[in-house]
Amino acid sequence: MIDPFGRPITYLRVSVTDRCDLRCVYCMAEDMEFLPKRDLLSLEELDRLCSTFVDLGVRKLRLTGGEPLVRRNVMTLINSLGRHVKSGALDELTLTTNGTRLADFAGQLADAGIQRINVSLDTLDKEKFRTITRWGDLSKVIAGLEAAKTAGLKVKINTVAMRDVNDNEFNRMIEWCGDQDFDLTFIETMPMGDIDGGRTEQYLPLSIVRANLGQKWTLEDDCYQSGGPARYTLCRETGKRVGFITPMTHNFCESCNRVRLTCTGTLYMCLGQDDAADLRAPLRQSESNEPLLSAIHEAISRKPKGHDFFIDRRHNRPAVTRHMSVTGG
Ligand code: SAM
Ligand code: SF4
Repeated sequence: MIDPFGRPITYLRVSVTDRCDLRCVYCMAEDMEFLPKRDLLSLEELDRLCSTFVDLGVRKLRLTGGEPLVRRNVMTLINSLGRHVKSGALDELTLTTNGTRLADFAGQLADAGIQRINVSLDTLDKEKFRTITRWGDLSKVIAGLEAAKTAGLKVKINTVAMRDVNDNEFNRMIEWCGDQDFDLTFIETMPMGDIDGGRTEQYLPLSIVRANLGQKWTLEDDCYQSGGPARYTLCRETGKRVGFITPMTHNFCESCNRVRLTCTGTLYMCLGQDDAADLRAPLRQSESNEPLLSAIHEAISRKPKGHDFFIDRRHNRPAVTRHMSVTGG
């Protein structure tokens, strides 16, 4: 799959559910309405779709959500997709999770062929964690991270940088990740979906964060590429990577190699655009993959050059109307 701008599409992110057991303030409104279960693709359908993308050249598959580990029987899907890692068709099968259920799943994930996971954690303070996630229990995530280490999973922590919320903790996070042997990536808030409250107050440019961190830490530019949009540095003092995902201040579209699939079979060709293609109808239309293949090729031919995220300060409107939990970030 090569898009109109010559970019090979080798990375598929799949949101296996839009549901979540948390309600992070930057991601969801407290009273989120979720999709009716009947609209969801079955696990078998998700497997067939993902496997078709693997046949078409996808080398990296990331499961996300919503919270992927709240989808019932999700291990059936993960175990099945693991066959592509074992056969060498996939370089990597991985997962982004909030970690609340990781204590139960870490061993099974490793057995399925997953080697690395991303765990989202914005604070190490119990009370603040509860406030950011609206009701989450930090100790569950910490137990999950312990289980991940025991299972031999490599962990990268994702931290959304928020002004006046967690910006006094970044040094502590770097230190803690160093102690735990975790990489760390800071993410700028992206204006996606209606949430309760404003975005402009939360938004903190990572250029400022990086400059401040540079006063305490030696952050050396690192050529490591995860296949994602993060720019990495190596922290000389901890020996771990510290990455920065800056969709608002740095346009990373020129090297974009990814598309995103929702749990209803909608393919988004760009995180920052609303254009999408329905793959559920062609998937269900026939047992043969012909209609599906032509729908995928047609969609890839529409992949846009880039996104135009911006925070609409005057109207306080999101740049993209769907929530991050639909496409999983
Ligand atoms: N529930 C899982 C989790 O939290 O890791 C997976 C889905 S979550 C939508 C994926 C990532 O998107 C998380 O790291 C989360 O912090 C991030 N995220 C959610 N909404 C965001 C927003 N508006 N701006 C930036 N990052 C966001
Ligand atoms: Fe759930 Fe992840 Fe969104 Fe938080 S960021 S509400 S954990 S989907």
